[in-house]
Amino acid sequence: MAGNGNGNGTGTIAIKNGYVFDPLNEIDGEMMDVFIKNGKVVRELTDSEMKDAKVIDAKGMTVMPGGVDSHSHIAGAKVNGGRMMRPEDSYKWNRKKTSLTHSGSGYTVPSVYLEGYEYSQMGYTTVFEAAVPPLEARHTHEEMRSIPMIDTGGYLVLGNNWFIMRYLRDGEMDRACAYVAWMMKTHKTYGIKCVNPAGVENWGWAENVGSLDEANIHFGITSREVIEGLCEINERLGLPMAMHLHCNNLGQPGCYEITKDSLKIPSQIRPNQNLDVEWAETKVDPARQESVYLTHAQFNSFGGTSWGDFESKTKEIIDYVNKTDHVVFDSGCVPFGEATVMTGDGPAIHNLYALTGNKWSNTDVELECGSGVLPFTYLKSNAIHSVQWAMGLELLLLVNDTWKTIMTTDHPNGGTFLKYPLVMAWLMSQAARNATFDECHAWARDRSDLGAVDREMSLYDIAILTRANTARTVGLSHRKGSLGVGADGDVTIYNIDPKSLNPRDYENLAKSFAQAEYTVKDGEIVSRRGEIVAIPEKRTYYVDVNVKDAGTNEMLADVKEWFKYYTLGFAHYPTPDSYLMNPTPIAVNAEEA
Ligand SMILES: [Zn+2]
Repeated sequence: MAGNGNGNGTGTIAIKNGYVFDPLNEIDGEMMDVFIKNGKVVRELTDSEMKDAKVIDAKGMTVMPGGVDSHSHIAGAKVNGGRMMRPEDSYKWNRKKTSLTHSGSGYTVPSVYLEGYEYSQMGYTTVFEAAVPPLEARHTHEEMRSIPMIDTGGYLVLGNNWFIMRYLRDGEMDRACAYVAWMMKTHKTYGIKCVNPAGVENWGWAENVGSLDEANIHFGITSREVIEGLCEINERLGLPMAMHLHCNNLGQPGCYEITKDSLKIPSQIRPNQNLDVEWAETKVDPARQESVYLTHAQFNSFGGTSWGDFESKTKEIIDYVNKTDHVVFDSGCVPFGEATVMTGDGPAIHNLYALTGNKWSNTDVELECGSGVLPFTYLKSNAIHSVQWAMGLELLLLVNDTWKTIMTTDHPNGGTFLKYPLVMAWLMSQAARNATFDECHAWARDRSDLGAVDREMSLYDIAILTRANTARTVGLSHRKGSLGVGADGDVTIYNIDPKSLNPRDYENLAKSFAQAEYTVKDGEIVSRRGEIVAIPEKRTYYVDVNVKDAGTNEMLADVKEWFKYYTLGFAHYPTPDSYLMNPTPIAVNAEEA
């Protein structure tokens, strides 16, 4: 691989005269220069440094920090399951090999190489895999390691983990905290993911849970107790990101109610992000205010009692988020077209199988979690899909404070990340939304509020949704999502002139977002108008939580005792450093909590 070797960045570059959008530093389209030295943003370069620096003239263009995706499915067993299930996917999108790049193929579930190239081409430099089953951590890291161009990290699935359920049921919070800290380090993962808490375990018995207070089979714990427990552990440990929640009953008519009730559970839990890191300069307080991160909110906001009276209930979620400060969400937008639905929520996928008859797969990950995969196509002619399209956009357009929201498609569940540019165009252009209303089912207008929304987002808003707030939410704003002094030298330059931007020209806007003029990573130009021009080594982030030793040994003795129920030997459980490209621990001080 070409590049700077250690992934720490040796690039020195000056980006001159661009219109800069850097919300973490409250810079809103100011014409200014950005300087990067040895891979990090600096205030200026000396005359002699300028002589050696690469210079980009960004006159008339938009400059933002590199894109950060906080929820995407790009690596691991279920992603690979998706690739295997649909060979036809590889005919639909591919890239030829060049002297620098591998070839790659796949539209909804691209190969690892293509994932890196395509994200980079769009201006993204950091992407988080949203679900890592502990037992699949080695596999997930092997794939993440092979994804070029982008820094990565993964969230550990814990909402139906036997140890967690047992410790929480027995009120052993210290042991649960020691376990999570040890698990993060053992599997080199970044945050807590909770999928259909208490329900996925029931799915092992062909059941689910239908309410927050239903005790699950064998463990006798409720989803309310799991959510509360994991949120509390998250803050006692001082983790970078709030607990990452995929609510119960996802994808079922009426599920907005359980979503709203779930969001209330951590309302009294105080956020406590306690990172021992070097912070880049930011004007906005980089610390997170939220104690829960609701993911793919669209899929959790269904109204109605059946598909016959299905409607958007995003208003209920939006109103709650507007009046509280402890929730952040990503949207899970549905941009129409082909998708591959994949989730740790096995029963949700089974419901979709029952509905569509499409091929599906289902996996039980012993003692830990499970997953399901199913190819799916969202059609403009379909009433439900059309409402879902409107819902994803409503969620982003109607929350008053953009800093509570993040743009995703829950790739590849709502649609492929390749459609992000289209979502941005819809957010920025009422004309674009009206054009789609004209093409899709009338329910989109009749059963959502989107038709009445005249908000057109600015480039500043887009920079919050795709960079500043994603980085802040996952606790990486000390180096990502910002162009403050000390931040990583990750920059996107779009060929969009904010002075002549016309929302009615949304097709060109989407084209410009799809192919960054330049993507700069660690101060090095890595892609240029869709062509990959350098492949620096990437990093893998995980959290290294510093907990008191007391209790850790007893916890480990208990874990080893229960390993008799695993089909794997304890010694093979951890993921060694060698599985990661440039392992980059984020130090967390639980003891000062
Ligand atoms: Zn997801």
